[in-house]
Amino acid sequence: MSSKLIITCAITGAETTREHQPALPITPEEIAHGAFEAWEAGASVLHLHVRKDDGTPTQDKAVFKKAIDLVRSKCDIVIETTTGGAVGMTPDERLQPVTLKPEMASLDCGTVNFGNEYIVNTLPIMREFATAMKDHGVRPTLECFDLGHVYASHILIKEGLLDEPYHYGLVLNVPGAVKYEVDVLDFLVRKLPKGAFWTAMGIGGKANLDAVYGALALNGNIRVGFEDNIYYSKGRLAKSNAELVERAARIASDCGREIARPDDVRAMLKLRKG
Ligand code: ZN
Repeated sequence: MSSKLIITCAITGAETTREHQPALPITPEEIAHGAFEAWEAGASVLHLHVRKDDGTPTQDKAVFKKAIDLVRSKCDIVIETTTGGAVGMTPDERLQPVTLKPEMASLDCGTVNFGNEYIVNTLPIMREFATAMKDHGVRPTLECFDLGHVYASHILIKEGLLDEPYHYGLVLNVPGAVKYEVDVLDFLVRKLPKGAFWTAMGIGGKANLDAVYGALALNGNIRVGFEDNIYYSKGRLAKSNAELVERAARIASDCGREIARPDDVRAMLKLRKG
């Protein structure tokens, strides 16, 4: 039996700019509005990055707090803060939002090429992040950009640094990392611990939509939003994050999958209460 389908919306990210996508939410107020619209359209998890007023990425705890408070005043969407941050940030900088005790946070499971840049995640960094999340009752989304990252997560599990149920984010098509291909997704999924939840995150317009179908075929979950893809179709920018969520929800419903609401996610992923 299929479990309910979780749609995560990654509405801002660290890389997308207003020049790329004029409807990109940047300020805490815009982020809260975008999160509300995405929630109305069927998203149950908000993957949250924040920006400075000038639009550049920041991991500043105060900005996260403002955005989280505003989102919570509008809807009950589950909030997953990033700890990936942006290229060039230090681990301590990246870890800041976890101290606000969001229900979930991303945990990158390895060093990865990011176009011409790279993001460093050594095992000691990953252990530090996993421990901080455990201490604060935060459910990690184990982001894997490559097969080796899946195996690195197995090390953390063996060391007792992660608790079940596990939730993986399979990030596909970052330039320099693993591509989205249906057999690649299938292979990665088969290497996850038994019973783990997972969300496919296809980067770029084509990979994003393909990964929606791949996740549906393999009984996984979906992520859409301007962090991953700014287009609705080739050459046509999406009008909003919600437009991408609406389509994902429609496709999932057509495939017979029931869409999870935030409280379903809280039960499925056993998120911390209060
Ligand atoms: Zn992110």
